[in-house]
This record gives sequence, C-alpha cells and structure tokens, in this order.
Amino acid sequence: MTIFPELVYGVLGESVIGRAQSAGIIEVKCHNIRDYSKDKHRKTDDTPYGGGMGMVMTCQPIYDCYRAIKEKIPEGSKSRVIYMSPKGRIFSHGVALELAEYDNLVFLCGHYEGVDQRILDEIVDEEISIGDYVVTGGEIPACIVIDAVSRLKDGVLSSSECYEGESVASGILEYPQYTKPREFLGREVPEVLLSGDHKKIERWRLEEAVRITRERRPDLLAMHPEIEESLKPRVKKPRRKRAEAEEG
Ligand code: SAM
Repeated sequence: MTIFPELVYGVLGESVIGRAQSAGIIEVKCHNIRDYSKDKHRKTDDTPYGGGMGMVMTCQPIYDCYRAIKEKIPEGSKSRVIYMSPKGRIFSHGVALELAEYDNLVFLCGHYEGVDQRILDEIVDEEISIGDYVVTGGEIPACIVIDAVSRLKDGVLSSSECYEGESVASGILEYPQYTKPREFLGREVPEVLLSGDHKKIERWRLEEAVRITRERRPDLLAMHPEIEESLKPRVKKPRRKRAEAEEG
C-alpha cells in the first residue's frame, strides 16, 4: 500500500527479484492508496490534530485499500500486515527468516509525518524499522524487507547455500571475494585461492571471515564461539596403555 507504486516497481523489477517475479516464484503487487481516496481531489493526507508541522496520512483511503487487498488473499493463507516505521522492531536476518514463513505480506508505506494512529491500531500486525534513522517514505524500507525475505524463498537463489554462507546468515561476516583479473593496479589475488587446494581455501576463508568479524563485529563472534574454536588445532589425546585401559 503506497502512494508511489513506481518507486517500488522500479527497485524490485530488476535483477534477482525481478527474475523471481518473472518466474512466478514471488509476486510483488502495489496498490495505490490514492485510487481509494473518496476526497474530490484524491487527497490522502491532512493536517495533524493538535497542530504542528507536516501532514498525516488519513485513515479512509488506507482502510479501503486494505479491504480490497484482503478480499484477494485466499482464505486460510498465512498473512501479516506490516507498517514500515522508524518506531518498529529493527529488521535483521532473523526477522527475515520469520517473515519468509508467510504466504502473503502486506506492507503499508507511510509518508510525511506518518499515518493516523487509528488505522495502525485497526489493521497493522507489526511495525518494522530498517534502522535508527528516518527516511522520507516507507517504500525503500519495504523494498529492503521484500528483497531480503524473497532471497530466502525456495527457487529465488540458485541454492540455499547462496545465502547460508553469507554475512550474518552464517553467524559471522563473510570472507573477502576476488575475481579476474589475477592482478589489478598491482594488487594480487591471494595465492591460496589459485592453489586449487580446496581444504586450504576453505580454511583461509574461515580464518579471514573470523579476522574481519573480530575487527568489525566482535558481538557476532561472541555469539558463535564455536566458529573461532573450530580453527584451533585439535589436541590429540594420548592413547591409554592397554593395561591401564583394561583396569578401566
Ligand atoms: N514522523 C515519523 C516519526 O518521527 O516516527 C517519521 C515519518 S517518516 C518522515 C515517513 C515514513 O517513512 C514513515 O511513515 C515510514 O513509513 C517511513 N520510514 C521512515 N524511516 C523509516 C525506518 N527507519 N524504517 C522503516 N520505515 C521508515
């Protein structure tokens, strides 16, 4: 639900998410709140009660828009209505995993000073924020959530391995990536990546991932001590002599 559908179509119509829509794996449909306005000038906002700066989005067009969407959601399908808002729960990979369990997600994108509280109380299940800052409208935040959630749906990426090893989803940050050419402005690709020794490459990548995470996000590493632990050499236990073993 938006007053700027083209903003959303522009962002989500390209690349991986665009292809996922063409393949029918996901469907992104914008409903223009303005089309539901009963105002003779198709207004969707008004001045705030109590005074103050800016405009507030009104209840009526949003409510009618929501009802039209609700009618199209098949009975029994799992759906959730989300208001994109700086006052909401902070979005993360964990929240994306939760949302990927739904069949239908309905996003309400606010503008100006936001939306009349009564419509939020009436139709919204949850408010979600993309971070502790304010942007001008809910469309870009909604696109971020839609993109991150869609990548978790079967068939959107070539395999779930594509996201499982990625930063944060794996528990820590990802190792650095390199591609051709082998040398660029005097900077060489790390030798180990050219070695063809997959065990060595895997170890190097894990070491780099741990190093970067320790530098930038020690909080993540603290949550997954087993990852750093797996890099430590295993101490071989001395074999017990047969006689000792027999004694138990
Ligand atoms: N007056 C509101 C406040 O202080 O909470 C901010 C309104 S903001 C300028 C306009 C719209 O952008 C909001 O209604 C919301 O939909 C969206 N928005 C802004 N920042 C956001 C964020 N961090 N996360 C999600 N949506 C956001």
